Amino acid sequence: MNNYYEQIKKANRIVIKVGTSTLTHKSGKLNLRRMDQLAMTLSDMKNQGKEIVLVTSGAITAGVTKMGLKERPREIRLSQAAASVGQCELMFIYDKLFAQYGHIVSQILLTKEITEDEKFRQNIINAFETLLEHKVIPIINENDSVAIDEIVYGDNDMLSAVTASLLKADLLVILTDIDGLYDSNPQENIDARFIPVVEKIDESIEAVAGDSLSGVGTGGMITKINAARVAVESGVHVIIANGEHPEKLYDMLDGKPVGTIFAAKIQND
Ligand code: GLU
Repeated sequence: MNNYYEQIKKANRIVIKVGTSTLTHKSGKLNLRRMDQLAMTLSDMKNQGKEIVLVTSGAITAGVTKMGLKERPREIRLSQAAASVGQCELMFIYDKLFAQYGHIVSQILLTKEITEDEKFRQNIINAFETLLEHKVIPIINENDSVAIDEIVYGDNDMLSAVTASLLKADLLVILTDIDGLYDSNPQENIDARFIPVVEKIDESIEAVAGDSLSGVGTGGMITKINAARVAVESGVHVIIANGEHPEKLYDMLDGKPVGTIFAAKIQND
């Protein structure tokens, strides 16, 4: 078997996706300690010389809470409004936290329509490359205030995979509320076995990827597997890991096993 841990240790351009369940408490309010640990760890990775891109969820939930709405709205225009409020809140906190560790962040909001259009796609790449050259940490989310119906990704797992492949990243890390992939649901089956490495995403892998039990985000394990497939096919290694302790990313860069690795199918230069 290839030494994926060594390859991951050397990854230079890293996209990290963090889900709503990692960023918010059950109350819907932001989990500030978690966000602070994340900002510190990513800042430190940046200090080591890595290029970091963060794909964040949490805008709709943060907006719903801030506006005092009772639940995640079904009405699309209310959800658009909540995203608009929550995105502001998220970036305000990220800007503050990353600044505390000496780093500059920027915001890029994408839609499927934009990433699928050839001209727009080149524009996005130019913006990202320029930001990374200037040592900025770009923070991405879907533009939930405008992205509805057929132009919507709907889950940031796929958005993060598309971003990682556009940027020819070495590694995509999807942080979620479970340690990685198991051969059955560990919350229902105590004999569930952890799968540390997936070399090929085939039907047997899809079959074990039942929905994770997170109530606040939009994606279950299957959306992560679909995203992983897009990334590995364009030469990006993927790790699905638990976001509860973002400092575990240090272990990953020390070449230690963290989460489930999905091996890139082809190798980028
Ligand atoms: N873009 C959505 C938000 O920021 C999250 C989508 C997802 O949960 O993957 O609220």
